[in-house]
Amino acid sequence: MSAETPPTISLQVAERLGAVRHACDRAAAKSGRSGQDVTLVCVSKTFGPEEIIPVLEAGHRVFGENRVQEAHGKWPPLRERYENVVLHLIGPLQSNKTREAVALFDAIHTLDRPGLAEVLAREIDRAGRRPELFVQVNTGEELQKAGVAPSEADDFIARCRNEFGLEIAGLMCIPPVQDPPSPHFALLRKIAARNGLSRLSMGMSGDFEQAIMLGATHVRVGSAIFGSRA
Ligand SMILES: *Cc1c(COP(=O)(O)O)cnc(C)c1O
Repeated sequence: MSAETPPTISLQVAERLGAVRHACDRAAAKSGRSGQDVTLVCVSKTFGPEEIIPVLEAGHRVFGENRVQEAHGKWPPLRERYENVVLHLIGPLQSNKTREAVALFDAIHTLDRPGLAEVLAREIDRAGRRPELFVQVNTGEELQKAGVAPSEADDFIARCRNEFGLEIAGLMCIPPVQDPPSPHFALLRKIAARNGLSRLSMGMSGDFEQAIMLGATHVRVGSAIFGSRA
């Protein structure tokens, strides 16, 4: 426990982390998998070192951020103190932030357009760093949401592979808030299966257990660990 962290907060966060990890393991077991097959991406967006350090002290190393700029400001010093931190970008990526994103992140969950695929491919070649890439699918076909339409996903994945030479690890979705999530998870899984993709980034605080039951390999959980965001 670090000196600057009030013990009550760190205990709460560490306890919640433990409970979420346990729930992930239980859901994995129910669906005939090992909890080790499910990566818990702890979403630390909007939270600072005083909240994040207890999670690092508890031994967790995999975190998700939704903004390149915010992550760039807060993670380099934490990475100096804690080894083997793995960072996932889970928010939209603007093409002009690609260089910074490839340098900082180990996984990018939001590849969703040819222009970005092209710039990413070039930057990955240049930098010699290969973040794991997930294609975001807009399973609810919501106008305001990023991601490729389900009907365009196969073509887009093929283009990423053949035209841009990108290795695609899996798919990601954010179901519409008003919908039951399971049909969206099932759709994402189906699109992944027919494209030979083994990783599924789906499930947040409210539905990560359902997502795991439907095959999630990566769940992105923020408020269930850190409490609600301001
Ligand atoms: C914020 C965010 C999450 C985490 O949401 P919680 O409900 O706090 O668990 C997951 N995925 C994405 C893409 C997010 O932006």
